[in-house]
Amino acid sequence: MNQGKAQLENSNKSREVIVVGASAAGLFTAASVVRGGRPVRVLESKPQLEPASRTLIVTSHFHTQMAAVAQDTVINEIRRFELFTDGRSAQIALKKPDLIIERSRLISALAREARQAGTSFSFDTRFLGVAPNERGLRLEV
Ligand SMILES: Cc1cc2nc3c(=O)[nH]c(=O)nc-3n(C[C@H](O)[C@H](O)[C@H](O)COP(=O)(O)OP(=O)(O)OC[C@H]3O[C@@H](n4cnc5c(N)ncnc54)[C@H](O)[C@@H]3O)c2cc1C
Repeated sequence: MNQGKAQLENSNKSREVIVVGASAAGLFTAASVVRGGRPVRVLESKPQLEPASRTLIVTSHFHTQMAAVAQDTVINEIRRFELFTDGRSAQIALKKPDLIIERSRLISALAREARQAGTSFSFDTRFLGVAPNERGLRLEV
């Protein structure tokens, strides 16, 4: 690799990666990228992190993808579905149970992980767009 390219790669590595939205997708992304060695800032238009309490249904992949976070988040399991029509019904057993998770716990746990990994947060900050400038990209908030 030539010296100029190496310098460019090093300067890119120190540049902050911007993630828009402090919810499940954004927080998971932020923690993953910061662990990969890049500084990360999450922009969130709301004034603070206060996820509404709500259940979501997800597949069992959640356990492998979320590992430790999953333990505090799963509140129940679905092992079978029942279908009803014209007075008849059928049961479908799931090979692996679907999981009922509490979204507010998931987001709080992901935010904790992202913070511990070194993510910075800017609340009350709405992302409006990006445009190229002489140094790279100009972020409008
Ligand atoms: C009624 C309903 C039921 C659902 N049920 C399920 C389910 O059972 N299982 C399942 O897996 N999924 C379900 N979903 C989908 C799931 O909720 C979403 O896929 C998930 O919440 C998306 O998460 P996210 O992190 O991508 O975005 P969001 O949760 O939408 O969060 C986006 C964040 O970005 C912020 N933001 C947005 N724009 C900007 C901006 N310009 N600048 C700064 N910040 C910004 C917002 O304030 C917010 O905090 C359901 C959705 C709905 C509406």
